[in-house]
Amino acid sequence: ATQLVWLRNDLRLEDHPGIYQARQQGDIAIVFIATMQQLQEHNEAPAKLALKSALLQDMAKRLHGLAIPLHVLEAERFSQCPQLLVDLCQRHGYQQVWWQNELPLHEAKRDATVAQQLTTAGVGCQRLAPDLIVSGQVLNQQGTPFKVFTPFYRRWLAMLQQQLQNAYPAPEPQTGDVELARIPQWGADLREDLWPTTQELIQARLWSFCKKREASYGEQRDLPATPGTSTLSPYLALGAIGPRQCLDALRYCCEESGRAWQDSIWLKEMAWRDFYRQLMGFFPELSRLEPFKPETNAVQWRDDEAGFQAWCEGRTGFPIVDAAMRQLNQTGWMHNRLRMIAASFLTKLLLIDWRKGEAYFMSKLIDGEFAANNGGWQWSASTGCDAVPYFRVFNPLRQSEKFDPAGDFIRRFVPELQRLDSKQIHDPSERLRQVCQYPTPIVDYKSARQRAIDAFASLKS
Ligand code: FAD
Repeated sequence: ATQLVWLRNDLRLEDHPGIYQARQQGDIAIVFIATMQQLQEHNEAPAKLALKSALLQDMAKRLHGLAIPLHVLEAERFSQCPQLLVDLCQRHGYQQVWWQNELPLHEAKRDATVAQQLTTAGVGCQRLAPDLIVSGQVLNQQGTPFKVFTPFYRRWLAMLQQQLQNAYPAPEPQTGDVELARIPQWGADLREDLWPTTQELIQARLWSFCKKREASYGEQRDLPATPGTSTLSPYLALGAIGPRQCLDALRYCCEESGRAWQDSIWLKEMAWRDFYRQLMGFFPELSRLEPFKPETNAVQWRDDEAGFQAWCEGRTGFPIVDAAMRQLNQTGWMHNRLRMIAASFLTKLLLIDWRKGEAYFMSKLIDGEFAANNGGWQWSASTGCDAVPYFRVFNPLRQSEKFDPAGDFIRRFVPELQRLDSKQIHDPSERLRQVCQYPTPIVDYKSARQRAIDAFASLKS
């Protein structure tokens, strides 16, 4: 009997353990369920929805070529998934459904209910490990989750070396007549000039990064004006690229250039993805938007709607922060260094609740991913697991001078400051701000920094 594979945030045909193993057992069919209302409640960005649609289009064409049926179902909420899947299986005689488990609370509950109802209906379930680089839980010697990244990373790397394997190939073609699936158009604002949507181009991006830039990632990754990082995050968030594919490319390119892949700083950065995703499984309260450190619930966040709006729109009067926010608003993506600067600015200097920033990022990011976003925000706000200490408050001016020394990144996104030189551009004088029609800073760094430190320091006493 035909096996059904349920795809969620793993929109790919290659390097898919479910597709590969199911195909070993016979013919397969694929199902994807869009739960629009739920995704809207999760603040999923229009650009991310549009990318999802486009990736499914590409997949539909490829599946048509392989004579593998694709069902795209539309529902409002996760709670409708069990019935939809039971109906689909009964209509087509599918006797077993395969999927890779997801760890955030709503997703885990959905998966458990689906498994229960399929079983009741007499349909088998093959639930595979979550889509992480290292499969299996990464635990310390006491058998509990790591709460600090560096020892996690050591253990993670050791496990990875033991379970190395190449990416799974695409499924073998099937025979028979299959219709080309019609994919609804969701979302909007996808910048196709920045974000390719075919597997061919996405794989080319991965390989080009590993060949040309991965070796210098350590020196380049903090400079937003240079293309120093992979910009693969939208594809990793939606699973259009698989973890073993990244490793294959990394290992091949390291071998070619005589480097040890285990030392790759890029690989270490990717381990954060697994770190934060695993936390979701261990600490369900994170999915309820609780801080990892419960004592930080007592922080008196400020109610400052005007400050929040200025931050969202990139008019805080801090050029690096404004450039960062405008990059997000215009492209759906923000450089990692800038995400830290922007998040620190909101949560420390404006002392606004990290959950407001988290939701805003999610509503704009093409790579919005709950675990990474929550992890990044809680790190920046000093409320999270292995977070930045509360007394280390980023100074936007120093960050700007250090990581955008020539001001090139600022010039790209804050055109009104284009004519300023590399000294003036980080913190223009009052007169220059008037000439350029650029706002005065909405906070005073020194006093705002002290206010943030006081808000956290009092928690201990
Ligand atoms: P590269 O530097 O090339 O890294 C490769 C991949 O590793 C990334 O694509 C990503 O999948 C993973 N990765 C790298 N750094 C991290 C990290 N710190 N945490 C988790 N995964 C990481 N990343 C998201 O994918 N989605 C988000 O919603 C998200 N929100 C963030 C919010 C804040 C406040 C912060 C500080 C970070 C956030 N990140 C998020 C992490 C990081 O900024 C992005 O993954 C990275 O900028 C993506 O660019 P890249 O693909 O060029 O990354």
